[in-house]
Amino acid sequence: MATSEQLVLAGTRTPSADGKTFTVYEPATGAELAEVAYASVEDVDRAVAAAVTAQESWADQAPSARAAVLHRWADLVEARAEELAVLQTRENGLTIRESRGMLWATSALLRYSADAVDKIVGETIPNDAGGLLMTQREPLGVVAAITAWNAPIAMAAQKAGPALVTGNTVVLKPSELAPLTSLIFGDLASEAGLPEGCLSILPGDGSVGRALVENRAVARVTFTGSTATGQDIALRAASTFKRLTLELGGKSAAIVFADADLDRVCAVAPEAMFGLAGQDCCARSRLLIHESVYDQVIEGYARTSARLKVGDPLDETTDLGPLISVAQRDRVHGFVEESVADGAVVVTGGAKPAGLPEGGGWYVPTVLTGVRPDMRVAQEEVFGPVVSVIPFATEEEAIRLANDTQYGLSGSIWTGNIARAIRVSRKVKSGVLAVNSNTSNYLQAPFGGVKQSGIGRANGLAGLEANTELKTLFMDGT
Ligand code: NAD
Repeated sequence: MATSEQLVLAGTRTPSADGKTFTVYEPATGAELAEVAYASVEDVDRAVAAAVTAQESWADQAPSARAAVLHRWADLVEARAEELAVLQTRENGLTIRESRGMLWATSALLRYSADAVDKIVGETIPNDAGGLLMTQREPLGVVAAITAWNAPIAMAAQKAGPALVTGNTVVLKPSELAPLTSLIFGDLASEAGLPEGCLSILPGDGSVGRALVENRAVARVTFTGSTATGQDIALRAASTFKRLTLELGGKSAAIVFADADLDRVCAVAPEAMFGLAGQDCCARSRLLIHESVYDQVIEGYARTSARLKVGDPLDETTDLGPLISVAQRDRVHGFVEESVADGAVVVTGGAKPAGLPEGGGWYVPTVLTGVRPDMRVAQEEVFGPVVSVIPFATEEEAIRLANDTQYGLSGSIWTGNIARAIRVSRKVKSGVLAVNSNTSNYLQAPFGGVKQSGIGRANGLAGLEANTELKTLFMDGT
């Protein structure tokens, strides 16, 4: 049965001002999951006004008091983690194991922010004027957070935690495709004692995001989503010089050199492509393999990929749930058909699996060879379980291919040669990178992209600092 959900306006559940709602569908079945209040421009204005009013006294609270609220919030998330993981799986189709991991990340991100509250510091600067010259970090004011559907509650924590602990207030707009866990996340903030007005959760489509970006009282926009939307936000934010952090798309490469532990590559590298059914900004959707080990690596990588189980995302043994929608599955299949028409070869996958509900956007892990670097499938973000395999002959060629897209988010270098790992990691243009690993996204370390993958950094102390402005203060000592 579909549930009915209201906005979290200034900390309290409220219908939208004009009474409008929209429907959220379950990706695994296509069935209606919830009817959700659709925030209007009036709701955006009310939420921002409440955030402006609440901000000063929130910032005036002792840092340890703000941190304590975040720790209580994390406690409440942990207490309901399994329920929230199931709800996230139902709203965005990630497997239950993936959702549990994201719930772990949600409370860990809140706790990281809480514990970092007294580690965001200014400096004292030597000067010839005989006084104290120093910097201090001050909150920006109201932060608008706009999130994507593929990790909604963890992204909410990644954005709201650092903003709130540094004394800002937040208006968060979750994706219209998966707003449900974010709404409960907002309830839990109130339950944890976050004062009224400090956090609103406003579901709705891009029009709600645009209203936030254009609101003059918003000081900063932190956005996760596609490059096209990020460009629109940057243009609209320019007229009021809002501080911007844009976490955008990717087309990352896994580069496999002949001297790598190839058995390990074949066993684990597919996970960095097919996790979240390929709907991951960091997905290694290009596999660059040295020509001397090309056949061997494709064979092993494809064998591991073909074994991954596509199915009910609530089943513990499932590796890939459905894509976010049937339309997205059809778009992904369109990429495969187009590349095959252009000479690519499907080694494994390339089809809908049989025997799963018609309303779900199922697609099997797909490995494509014969891909030319200029093909659309090798240049654009497919956001589905499709990897483009391209051979290379030299280290220089591998680096050139890795850099040969508009994106620069993530990637993996697989090699047993330390000097090569250092050389190549210096030359690959990306915000984060892993050597002999699938993972370069850690909540303690800066995360973000270069080129068209974004601006600014989330996570780590950099993620907190992005919510502050440096003020320089001179105190005369003469
Ligand atoms: P999207 O850009 O369609 O939507 C993202 C959010 O922006 C949604 O909440 C949407 O309603 C809102 N929005 C849409 N138009 C807007 C506008 N004009 N102004 C303001 N807000 C607007 O992206 P998506 O389909 O939800 O997510 C998939 C994309 O997100 C992929 O490109 C993926 O790579 C990217 N992503 C990036 C990261 C990262 O950290 N770099 C992480 C996850 C996802």
